[in-house]
Amino acid sequence: MPIREIHKEVLNLILHSSRSSHPNEFAGILRAEEKRVTEVLVLPGTYSSDRSVLMRLDMLPISSRACGSVHSHTSTNIRPSRADLNFFNKLGEVHVIVTPPYDETSWKAYNSRGSEISLDVVESENRELVSRKFSEDFFGT
Ligand SMILES: [Zn+2]
Repeated sequence: MPIREIHKEVLNLILHSSRSSHPNEFAGILRAEEKRVTEVLVLPGTYSSDRSVLMRLDMLPISSRACGSVHSHTSTNIRPSRADLNFFNKLGEVHVIVTPPYDETSWKAYNSRGSEISLDVVESENRELVSRKFSEDFFGT
Protein backbone atom coordinates (compact mmCIF):
# COMPACT_ATOMS: atom_id res chain seq x y z
CA MET A 1 0.00 0.00 0.00
CA PRO A 2 1.56 3.35 -0.96
CA ILE A 3 2.20 5.73 1.91
CA ARG A 4 -0.01 8.79 1.69
CA GLU A 5 -0.23 10.23 5.20
CA ILE A 6 1.88 11.31 8.16
CA HIS A 7 0.73 11.68 11.75
CA LYS A 8 0.68 15.29 12.85
CA GLU A 9 2.58 14.38 16.05
CA VAL A 10 5.33 12.73 14.01
CA LEU A 11 5.69 15.79 11.80
CA ASN A 12 5.75 18.07 14.86
CA LEU A 13 8.46 15.94 16.44
CA ILE A 14 10.52 16.06 13.23
CA LEU A 15 10.21 19.85 13.05
CA HIS A 16 11.03 20.26 16.73
CA SER A 17 14.06 17.94 16.53
CA SER A 18 15.34 19.71 13.42
CA ARG A 19 15.01 23.09 15.15
CA SER A 20 16.84 21.75 18.22
CA SER A 21 19.65 20.26 16.12
CA HIS A 22 20.27 23.46 14.17
CA PRO A 23 22.99 24.45 13.10
CA ASN A 24 23.59 20.71 12.71
CA GLU A 25 21.37 18.49 10.61
CA PHE A 26 18.83 16.09 12.07
CA ALA A 27 18.15 12.62 10.66
CA GLY A 28 15.92 9.70 11.46
CA ILE A 29 14.19 6.66 10.07
CA LEU A 30 10.46 6.75 9.33
CA ARG A 31 8.18 3.85 10.17
CA ALA A 32 4.73 3.30 8.74
CA GLU A 33 1.62 1.34 9.45
CA GLU A 34 -0.31 0.68 6.27
CA LYS A 35 -0.52 3.98 4.36
CA ARG A 36 0.56 6.26 7.21
CA VAL A 37 3.90 7.34 8.67
CA THR A 38 3.42 6.75 12.38
CA GLU A 39 6.88 6.99 13.95
CA VAL A 40 10.31 8.52 13.63
CA LEU A 41 13.28 6.62 15.02
CA VAL A 42 16.68 8.15 15.72
CA LEU A 43 19.35 5.49 15.29
CA PRO A 44 22.07 5.14 17.92
CA GLY A 45 25.42 6.45 16.68
CA THR A 46 23.90 9.01 14.30
CA TYR A 47 26.55 11.64 13.56
CA SER A 48 25.56 15.06 12.32
CA SER A 49 27.32 18.25 11.29
CA ASP A 50 26.19 21.44 9.59
CA ARG A 51 26.71 19.81 6.18
CA SER A 52 25.77 16.20 6.51
CA VAL A 53 24.42 13.50 8.70
CA LEU A 54 25.52 9.89 8.87
CA MET A 55 23.12 7.22 10.01
CA ARG A 56 24.28 3.76 11.01
CA LEU A 57 21.81 1.55 9.22
CA ASP A 58 23.34 -1.46 10.95
CA MET A 59 21.64 -0.10 14.09
CA LEU A 60 18.22 -0.45 12.47
CA PRO A 61 16.12 -3.02 14.34
CA ILE A 62 15.28 -6.01 12.16
CA SER A 63 11.56 -5.64 12.73
CA SER A 64 11.71 -1.92 12.09
CA ARG A 65 8.97 -1.56 9.44
CA ALA A 66 11.20 1.21 8.06
CA CYS A 67 9.47 2.98 5.20
CA GLY A 68 12.00 5.72 4.56
CA SER A 69 13.91 8.55 6.14
CA VAL A 70 13.81 12.13 7.28
CA HIS A 71 16.60 14.69 7.49
CA SER A 72 16.98 18.40 7.77
CA HIS A 73 18.90 20.82 5.61
CA THR A 74 20.26 23.82 7.45
CA SER A 75 20.02 25.98 4.33
CA THR A 76 16.71 26.80 2.65
CA ASN A 77 17.52 24.41 -0.25
CA ILE A 78 14.83 21.75 0.12
CA ARG A 79 15.89 19.68 -2.93
CA PRO A 80 17.56 16.31 -2.33
CA SER A 81 21.31 16.32 -3.02
CA ARG A 82 23.04 13.65 -5.11
CA ALA A 83 24.07 11.91 -1.88
CA ASP A 84 20.47 12.10 -0.67
CA LEU A 85 19.24 10.46 -3.87
CA ASN A 86 21.74 7.62 -3.47
CA PHE A 87 20.48 7.09 0.04
CA PHE A 88 16.76 7.34 -0.87
CA ASN A 89 17.32 4.58 -3.38
CA LYS A 90 18.53 2.21 -0.68
CA LEU A 91 15.84 2.54 1.92
CA GLY A 92 12.10 2.70 1.56
CA GLU A 93 9.63 4.74 -0.39
CA VAL A 94 9.13 8.01 1.54
CA HIS A 95 11.81 10.57 2.33
CA VAL A 96 11.14 13.86 4.08
CA ILE A 97 13.43 16.90 3.95
CA VAL A 98 12.88 19.85 6.27
CA THR A 99 14.48 23.30 6.13
CA PRO A 100 14.53 26.41 8.29
CA PRO A 101 12.41 27.91 9.78
CA TYR A 102 11.23 24.34 10.55
CA ASP A 103 7.53 25.17 10.61
CA GLU A 104 4.49 23.35 9.15
CA THR A 105 5.25 24.66 5.67
CA SER A 106 9.00 24.02 5.55
CA TRP A 107 9.07 20.34 4.58
CA LYS A 108 8.59 18.20 1.50
CA ALA A 109 8.29 14.48 0.86
CA TYR A 110 9.99 12.58 -1.97
CA ASN A 111 9.85 9.04 -3.30
CA SER A 112 12.91 6.82 -3.65
CA ARG A 113 13.68 8.38 -7.05
CA GLY A 114 13.61 11.90 -5.62
CA SER A 115 10.29 13.00 -7.14
CA GLU A 116 8.11 15.08 -4.89
CA ILE A 117 5.08 13.30 -3.42
CA SER A 118 2.28 14.61 -1.26
CA LEU A 119 1.60 13.39 2.26
CA ASP A 120 -1.55 14.39 4.10
CA VAL A 121 -1.00 15.46 7.70
CA VAL A 122 -3.51 13.62 9.86
CA GLU A 123 -4.41 13.74 13.53
CA SER A 124 -3.66 10.57 15.45
CA GLU A 125 -6.64 8.59 16.74
CA ASN A 126 -4.50 7.34 19.58
CA ARG A 127 -2.33 10.14 20.93
CA GLU A 128 -1.23 8.22 24.01
CA LEU A 129 0.16 5.30 22.03
CA VAL A 130 2.16 7.55 19.70
CA SER A 131 3.79 9.51 22.52
CA ARG A 132 4.64 6.33 24.39
CA LYS A 133 6.43 4.96 21.34
CA PHE A 134 8.36 8.22 20.97
CA SER A 135 9.64 8.19 24.51
CA GLU A 136 10.78 4.58 24.19
CA ASP A 137 12.68 5.34 21.01
CA PHE A 138 14.24 8.53 22.25
CA PHE A 139 15.19 7.61 25.76
CA GLY A 140 15.90 3.95 25.25
CA THR A 141 13.70 2.76 28.12
ZN1 LIG B 1 20.02 16.26 2.17
